[in-house]
Amino acid sequence: MALTLFSRRPTPVASPAAEPEPWPETGETWQPEGITVVERYWTQVHAVVLVYTAAQGYRHNVACLGCHYQQTQYKAHYSSPLTLEQAAELANTHAAQCRAVPREIPARPDEPAARELLRAAVRGMRQRDRGTFSFSDLDTQRLVLQRTNDWIVDELGRMADEEPDVLKASVSEYGTTFYIQKLPGR
Ligand SMILES: [Zn+2]
Repeated sequence: MALTLFSRRPTPVASPAAEPEPWPETGETWQPEGITVVERYWTQVHAVVLVYTAAQGYRHNVACLGCHYQQTQYKAHYSSPLTLEQAAELANTHAAQCRAVPREIPARPDEPAARELLRAAVRGMRQRDRGTFSFSDLDTQRLVLQRTNDWIVDELGRMADEEPDVLKASVSEYGTTFYIQKLPGR
C-alpha cells in the first residue's frame, strides 16, 4: 500500500488574518465627552494619570486611572485652580509613586444614569448656603459623567423646572445662571 506522502490537498483559502485582540483600553487614548485630555503620564505598572480640563480651559485636573487619586488644587488650602505646570508636576509625582494597576475606565452612562449623576451632584451642593452653580464644582465628576457642557446646561434647566426647591434658573442677556437653593431650615 503506497503511502501518498506527497499528496497535495487543495490549497486552503487563506483565512482572513485574525484581528488582534484589542488591548483593553486603560486610558491611553481615552477621550471622554466633555473633557480635554491635555497630558498623560504612566505609572510603573502602566496605569494612566490624566491631566485634563473640563468646562474652563484654565482649570486643570489630575486623575489617576489606577487608583482614585484626583486633584483640582495644588494644595488643600490653596483655592486657585491648577495651572498646567502644577498639574503636570502633581501627575508626574503621583505616577512615580502609584502602584495601582490600571482599573477599567468608566463606561459612558446612559441618559437616565447621567441625568441622575448630575442631579445627585447638584443636590449634594445644597449643604452650603444658597450659591451660584459653578462648573468647576463638577470637574472631578466629568470623567464619570462624560457629557458636554451644553448637555449639562440643558439638564440643569430641566432640573430647575422639576426641582425648584433645589435649583433655580435666572436668564439674562449673558446667559443662564443657576442658583443652588439651600436646604430647608438652614
Ligand atoms: Zn494612582
